[in-house]
Amino acid sequence: MINLVRRLLKTSQKKPEKLIDEKEIRYDGRKLNEMRPVKIEVGILGNADGSAYIEQGKNRILAAVYGPREIHPKHQALPDRAALRCRYHMAPFSVQERKSPAPSRREVEISKVMREALEPSVFTEYYPRTAIDLFVEVLQADGGTRCAGITVASLALADAGIPMRDLVSACAAGKVEGRVVLDLSDVEDKSSDGADMPVAYMSSLNAVTLLQMDGMLTPDEFEQTLNMAVEGCKQISQLQKEALKAKYATAKEAVAEKEEEAEEEAKE
Ligand code: UDP
Repeated sequence: MINLVRRLLKTSQKKPEKLIDEKEIRYDGRKLNEMRPVKIEVGILGNADGSAYIEQGKNRILAAVYGPREIHPKHQALPDRAALRCRYHMAPFSVQERKSPAPSRREVEISKVMREALEPSVFTEYYPRTAIDLFVEVLQADGGTRCAGITVASLALADAGIPMRDLVSACAAGKVEGRVVLDLSDVEDKSSDGADMPVAYMSSLNAVTLLQMDGMLTPDEFEQTLNMAVEGCKQISQLQKEALKAKYATAKEAVAEKEEEAEEEAKE
């Protein structure tokens, strides 16, 4: 019975024959320049200095920040700035084929590019000889996790109260079946002769902090893809700001309630 359910599940997750139909609608109902639905929440972990959670399509990713704090081992201390240390990790249950919990080459690479994408946004020079530790845990993956990971990590840094020049927003664009599309899912990413371009961007500063590319694009397609990814980043940036404001509205309400309670107690 369990095997039958597994087999049925696998068939339902099979790659569709055509990823884009003649009306330019993608297999999941999206337009070419449409992002997957995004849901963001800030400040959800009690034990971290800052945290955030994102759902982008089927991706589910948590980020937690600790610091600035004393650095161990001491030899990693930087005399002029804080060391931003990032760990991107996929849970063993985050993908269909169980993933080994040990860090893979891919995870080590993504941890590095993630740090490089976020570091320009942080005033690390304010905290020399300390560490800012950032953990990104992918609970469920469906393509584009490095981008969603950067988006959510930037919010966790802001939630930790770390001074920043700007939020970093990330989104990929690429080519699927000869068309330039925004925010590729896993099946789209793995389509043959396609291309995928993850981009991280600081909207207020108009600065790109990450640009990678898999596959082949003509110079025209490259420009079109980059522009589409930057537009996606701008949309993400709006959602990030809304999520931060929502967190602080709740925090403000909680403080006001406590103040009221204290006043009433003082009266009694
Ligand atoms: N993936 C997987 N097993 C792995 C690593 C990745 O199934 O061990 C899937 C996962 O859905 C991931 C997708 O492959 O999101 C694309 O991975 P890629 O390396 O392109 O990074 P991403 O697009 O997630 O940033």
